[in-house]
Amino acid sequence: MASQCKECNETIKGRSDKQFCSDYCRVNYYNKSCHDELKMMRQTNKILRSNRRILKRLKKDGNDFISMEALIVLGFQINFVTYIDSDPETLRFYCYEYGIELLEADQYMIIKNNTMEFSR
Ligand SMILES: [Zn+2]
Repeated sequence: MASQCKECNETIKGRSDKQFCSDYCRVNYYNKSCHDELKMMRQTNKILRSNRRILKRLKKDGNDFISMEALIVLGFQINFVTYIDSDPETLRFYCYEYGIELLEADQYMIIKNNTMEFSR
């Protein structure tokens, strides 16, 4: 059974396990998938940096407490955090060294971790 090129859909001649009709198509295909990965990582990093900037600004301006609704209005995206620190008493979401700590229903305290530890 003839297979089709993953890049251009042309029928591939020769070995049945080949995935591409040519080196050109193989290179094009991997460049595109690499491009998509880079694009996804850039978008994620952009959101993380934006989240950090929002928290940093609020902290700098002396805002210690905020609701999630107010954060969302500012463009904060809670799904994008660099780490979560939790124990039975506390729940903290960080974007790099800045974060929010859940105090009670929809009331967060803006925090800064000056002693971040990295395992490597
Ligand atoms: Zn092809």
